[in-house]
Amino acid sequence: MEKVIVFATDLHGEIYQYEKVFEVAAGKNVKALVIGGDIGPFLSVIGDIAGYQKDFISSYLIPRLKDFQKKTPKDVFLMMGNDDLKMNMEALEKGEKEGTFKIINQKVYPLGGKYIAGYSFVNEAPILIKDWEKSESLIEDDLERLSDKSDPRKTIYSMHAPPIGTNLDIIFSGDHVGSRAVREFIEKKQPYLTLHGHIHESPRMSGSWKDIIGETISVNPGKGSILVFGLNDLNIMEVMTV
Ligand SMILES: [Zn+2]
Repeated sequence: MEKVIVFATDLHGEIYQYEKVFEVAAGKNVKALVIGGDIGPFLSVIGDIAGYQKDFISSYLIPRLKDFQKKTPKDVFLMMGNDDLKMNMEALEKGEKEGTFKIINQKVYPLGGKYIAGYSFVNEAPILIKDWEKSESLIEDDLERLSDKSDPRKTIYSMHAPPIGTNLDIIFSGDHVGSRAVREFIEKKQPYLTLHGHIHESPRMSGSWKDIIGETISVNPGKGSILVFGLNDLNIMEVMTV
C-alpha cells in the first residue's frame, strides 16, 4: 500500500480542526503527519496572547500528540509560523525532548527514503508579530543553507510563506503577497514537493490549492484544510476541507 503523508497548516489553535487532522493522520497507510506553522491561537489585541499560546502548546498540543503517538505511532513534524510567538519555543521543545515530534524549522530529517525540511520565516508584510519575519535576501541565504543539508530533488520542504505570483499567495484584494526568495529557491533547486500556508484565503481566491513551478508541485491547502499525498507517488494528492 502506498504510504501517504498528511499535511495541515494554519490551524491557529482550533481544536476541532486539530482533531480532524489527527483522525485522518491515524489512517493505516499514513507514514507521517506534518504541521506547517501557525499552530497556536490567533493573535488578539485583548488578553495575554503569549499565555494563550503557551497554554495551548502545554495543555493541548503536546499531551494530545503524545496520546496520538501512543495509539498510532507515526512520524510527526511541526514548526511555528509567523503567528506563533518565539518566546514559547521552550514550551514546544519540551514535547520534542520527550520524543513526541520533531521541530523542523531550518532542519532536515529523513522520511521514508526522502527528506522533510522546514522553514518558518515569511517575507516582510504589515503583520503584528515580527518574530518570524525576514527580508527576502536573508530568506534566500537561509534556504540556500538548508538546501545543502539534503538533495532538494528528494526533499519535501514545508515553507510557511508561499512562492510569489502563484495560486498559493493571493489575498482578498487579489494581490500576490508571497515570497520572491521562496519562488526563486523552487525555480533553482526544483524540490520534490513544497508545502505552504500563511495566506489562508489563497486557494479560495485562486480556485486552486496547487501550482507548478518548473517540475515542482507546490501546495497551499489553505487554513484548516488537510492535504494527503503519496510519499513516492505525487499523482496521489487530495485536499479535504474540514
Ligand atoms: Zn496563519
